[in-house]
Amino acid sequence: MTAPRLEIDSGKIEHNTRTLVGLLSTLGISIAGVTKAALGCPDVARAMLRAGVSALADSRIENIEAMRREGIDAPMWLIRSPMLSQTDRVVRAADLSCNTELSVIASLSRAAGRSGRLHQVVLMVELGDLREGILPVNLNAVAGAVLGLPGIRLAGIGANLACLGGVAPDRNNMDELSTLAESVEASFGIELEWVSGGNSANLEWALGGGDPGRINHLRLGEAILLGCEPMHRRPIPELYPDAFTLVAEIIESGSKPAQPWGKRAQTAFGNTPDFGEAGEIWRVILAVGRQDVDPAGLQAPPGMSILGASGDHLVVQCDGARPAVGDEIRFGLDYSALVRAMSSPFVRPAPAGSMLLLKPDGGKSATVR
Ligand SMILES: *Cc1c(COP(=O)(O)O)cnc(C)c1O
Repeated sequence: MTAPRLEIDSGKIEHNTRTLVGLLSTLGISIAGVTKAALGCPDVARAMLRAGVSALADSRIENIEAMRREGIDAPMWLIRSPMLSQTDRVVRAADLSCNTELSVIASLSRAAGRSGRLHQVVLMVELGDLREGILPVNLNAVAGAVLGLPGIRLAGIGANLACLGGVAPDRNNMDELSTLAESVEASFGIELEWVSGGNSANLEWALGGGDPGRINHLRLGEAILLGCEPMHRRPIPELYPDAFTLVAEIIESGSKPAQPWGKRAQTAFGNTPDFGEAGEIWRVILAVGRQDVDPAGLQAPPGMSILGASGDHLVVQCDGARPAVGDEIRFGLDYSALVRAMSSPFVRPAPAGSMLLLKPDGGKSATVR
């Protein structure tokens, strides 16, 4: 098998999704499964769909187009405001897009006219995180303008928190979103199908026992993929945190001094690391680096710890086992490590488990070549 590779256990993703769909459906909240961290990987998308998400969502039209090419015909949301230069592609591949700019929605309207399709729009409202969003005072004016555009259906409003400013979704800002939905509905005599409260960071609010008000939708990525809520990066009970595993191959293994010698300046990536202890340690080098993964987001197996990484090398200290050149080591990933591994052309996605035999020494795998 090729290394490095990212093993994907779609059964665990399906389980995580089904658990969250179940918990939230009792509150009248349906889920769009967000595929962007997995680059629209069709196995991931299909696992989410089997588990009952009402739609798939991605921030990049390329990923949505890739899923369409794989024959996935579920409803798809583009959750980043479309680029003006891509509105024709957006109308062709996505059913709905999240928007904040009237000039973009007008361009979507013209694209819808050209392709003979209806395109749905969710207006994103700024609730304080200061990433995307229409300021609440302007929402009714924008909604009114959107309602006048041919080929466009105003499907709802939404918000996104905890991304740029780290502002927590809570009863205050979620109640504000409910009130804004009601105000748009009352002003224009319409009903909004979706009031989309946010992302995985909304789970604490949603499952905290309060009244969700008008919020009937969340867009969940990290919670499904990594079984983790992103506000405090705590594991969510009942979910698998290990649906993804990075597997890398050892290219050097041996005992070396723990401390560098010679006059020291900056490393290749601009820091001056501290190497703790003295003496000799067993070090292995794996053929994977910062170009492939965020090393700070990797979890080494028990008895191993990550000492550092350069662009193409990951150096690991081994306290118990003495793995050999050619052996493979398996790592857990956080969101940052996952996004980068999925995006690296050197890391191949692979279905989990199929060709690997687990050795009893702490998760190290033997490769079947
Ligand atoms: C990335 C993103 C999400 C999903 O976020 P997670 O924290 O992975 O659940 C939802 N909505 C928008 C607008 C996003 O950009």
